[in-house]
This record gives sequence, C-alpha cells and structure tokens, in this order.
Amino acid sequence: MKTFQQKVAVITGAGSGIGRELAIQLAQKGVHIAIADIQEEQLHETANLLVQYHVTVSTHVLDVSQREAVYRFADDVIARHKGVHIVINNAGVALSNVQVNQMAYEDFEWVLGVNLWGVVYGTKAFLPHLLKQSEANLVNTSSLYGLTAVAKAAAYCTSKFAVRGFTEALRQELCQTPVAVTVVHPGGIRTCIARNTRPATNGDIISNPEHAVQHFEQQAQTSAVDAARLIIEGIRRNTPRVIIGK
Ligand code: ADP
Repeated sequence: MKTFQQKVAVITGAGSGIGRELAIQLAQKGVHIAIADIQEEQLHETANLLVQYHVTVSTHVLDVSQREAVYRFADDVIARHKGVHIVINNAGVALSNVQVNQMAYEDFEWVLGVNLWGVVYGTKAFLPHLLKQSEANLVNTSSLYGLTAVAKAAAYCTSKFAVRGFTEALRQELCQTPVAVTVVHPGGIRTCIARNTRPATNGDIISNPEHAVQHFEQQAQTSAVDAARLIIEGIRRNTPRVIIGK
C-alpha cells in the first residue's frame, strides 16, 4: 500500500486490544474506518477515540461467526464508504487449558466459528470489493499458535493453523491481482483476549479461567500498540507474514 491517506479500512474485533490500536493508528494516517465488534459498548469506546482524527468512522455491531451478518456488514460498509481498500479480519476468541478428551463440541465449534469461519466469511464478503481497487490489502489474524501447536489448546491451534493455511493459499491465488495478502501471527500480546477466554463447558473439571489468564499473561510480551504498528508496517510493505512476539 503506497499511501494510506483517504483509504478505507475495515477492522473486525476493534472493540479492544490490537483491533482498537489498528483503528487508532490507521485513523492517524488519514484512513477512513469501519469498525466491527460483538461488544457494542467497547466498539463505541473505540469510535470515540477516533473522533479527534477527523476521518469518517462507521461502527457495526457484528458477530463474525454469522455468515449472513458478515455479508450485510460488507454491504453496509460499501453503502457508507463507497469502497474498501484494507480489510483486517482480527476478531478472535481463545480457549485454553482444556484437553481434547474433555472438550465439549460446542466449545470447539465456538472457537472455529469465530476464529476460522469469521475470517473466511470476512474474506469472501469483502474480496470482490477489494479486487475493484488498484491497490488493496487483506490481513487475516492467526497466532503463534498457528505456527506451533501446544497442549491443551487444540481448538485454538486448529483454528489458527487453518487461518494460516487459508490465507497462504489465498495469497497464491491472488498473486497476479492488486490485492496483497498478509497473515499475522501475534504471540503474547497484552490485551483482553485472556479475559475473554471462556471457561470450557466442562470447566468445573479441567478448565479454570484464572489459569487461562495466567497462561496468556505469562507470555504477554508485546503491547497492542507495538503489535498494531508492526501490522501496519506489514500492510505498507505488502509483507506476506508478520510474526509478533515470541
Ligand atoms: P487481541 O487484541 O489479542 O486479538 P482482544 O480480546 O483484546 O484480543 O480482541 C478481540 C476482539 O474480538 C474483542 O474486542 C472481542 O469482543 C472481539 N470478538 C470476539 N468474538 C467476536 C465475534 N464473534 N464477532 C466479532 N467480534 C468478536
């Protein structure tokens, strides 16, 4: 992406953490912003932080795991902003400290629904619009757990490995088009995802949300501000892969 000024960016999961920081830093560069999150209050907090940058901001309460809602979101964004240049599928949830043997299918489906299907829907809903531009960027958020699997995080690792595979295949498909594709692998980032971690359905036996928080916080090395900066640098350079933290 040569210039950011007057471009339009879509960011999901912008109610907190890296998504919020991406919205702030892109708005600072003169990018118009469409932000989505399942948490309405948090979303509006992010929107309030963008007022000072005098760009157009639209807010969209959205569950990215709902296919039709994602397509309606894409329609709303295009109606409001007339086009889109950057799409960042960033919304995500975590589930850890649960063994496969104990894991409820509904927990597994929840993680895949948000982390994998949310990315696939967001990609497919916006891709036709990105392809209309002379330069555009699609960014999908995986995780370091999309590069290396760890015990007791099978659902999360499955979703993040899948996002990586999906995004890398897509990059090859789009290599002759104006759409640059990037997969992001954040490591331990100091954000709320630890607190958003849902106790497993069988939680009384093997999952303890406090444990999950500790698990993520022990690894939390990079601030969301730095993570967002690195992702935007990746967009500027059309980098295929951005790895953040360790
Ligand atoms: P990180 O920034 O490390 O990815 P956060 O938990 O701070 O972690 O951010 C993830 C964001 O994704 C949160 O704002 C959360 O509300 C949002 N989110 C979680 N599930 C969904 C969903 N189903 N649809 C849209 N946004 C979601």
